Amino acid sequence: MNNKDYYQILGIDRHANSDEIKRAYRKLAFKYHPDRNINNKQEAEDKFKAAAEAYSILSDKQKRLQYDQYGHENYHEFDHQKSDLNVEDIFSSFGDILNDGLGGFTDFVETTKQQGDNLRIKIRLELNEINNGIIKKIKVKRMKFSKDVQFKVCPLCHGTGSINKLSHTFLGQIQTTINCTQCFGLGKLILRIPRGVNNQGLKQVEELINIKIPAGIKNKMHIKVLGKGNDAPFGLGQKGDLIVLVEEIPHPNFQRNGDNLFYDLYISIPQAILGTYEYIPTFNGTVRIKISPGSQGGKILRLKGKGLPQMNGFGRGDLFIHINIWVPKTISQEHKLWFQNINKDPHFAPKHNQNNKSFLDKIKEIYYND
Ligand SMILES: [Zn+2]
Repeated sequence: MNNKDYYQILGIDRHANSDEIKRAYRKLAFKYHPDRNINNKQEAEDKFKAAAEAYSILSDKQKRLQYDQYGHENYHEFDHQKSDLNVEDIFSSFGDILNDGLGGFTDFVETTKQQGDNLRIKIRLELNEINNGIIKKIKVKRMKFSKDVQFKVCPLCHGTGSINKLSHTFLGQIQTTINCTQCFGLGKLILRIPRGVNNQGLKQVEELINIKIPAGIKNKMHIKVLGKGNDAPFGLGQKGDLIVLVEEIPHPNFQRNGDNLFYDLYISIPQAILGTYEYIPTFNGTVRIKISPGSQGGKILRLKGKGLPQMNGFGRGDLFIHINIWVPKTISQEHKLWFQNINKDPHFAPKHNQNNKSFLDKIKEIYYND
């Protein structure tokens, strides 16, 4: 709360008419406008606010009447709003009175912020590349700022990018700083754009870009390569990014589920009966697995840690081997007779024994009884 009475602040007597009040305020607002008081901005702003507060009350007939009745000390209790006044509010609520000349206060020069466009490409990866992680060298067509664009210093702002604007308002002449109207704040003008360069000073180039593919990356994931998108217009501002969409090429032998791999193994009827060793080509070397004599089709073997690496770098998924028994479609007459004979043997009759786990039980066992 200003100790000074509103009439004192505006330097007018108690019988001043509305024109005198306006004239007094205009004089003070002009005198204490923060743009004109760079060296003692705070003090000027305080005085400016005080004048605005005084004017807001005395220019309103109803408020002035109350103010006169209650006196300066008591009046503030009736007007809570004024304590919230800040310079921005003053400008917005008095905009029509102060005219556009003071608008410059909030319209300081803003440098043109620009960003180059992002580029998007798709990259197809083999499962073994995903297993190892890889640096892919990809040719990307991007827009690059051409060093051959010739500029000249803006004659209007002399390279500063801003100009002073003199406005004539009822407060008098007010000088504000705005973006240069000729170069839009760049400080320079284009003198010559060479052939093959667009009107933003950009030229298409083909660049070989290294894209680091982390091991374990998944299908449809994105990799962002910072600053490898298009340059900003005229190279002024941040470069765009290169967004790489990962597409996994299906593998002929392995199916992927997260970090786990699934492999279908086919063994012959005699191998299922007699047992055998099989060699499985995994991404981390060949693994020899033992098929026990009397193995049933549908059995699932789990090779721990032989799946794909986890992207966080901790551990690997598992490799699941699904055993299938290969049944030939055609056999010789001799074998046919042999199998007909064997089929009479009670050992070959299927038995649903209590120890044989159902398919569902096998899956449950694999996932829950680690
Ligand atoms: Zn300029």
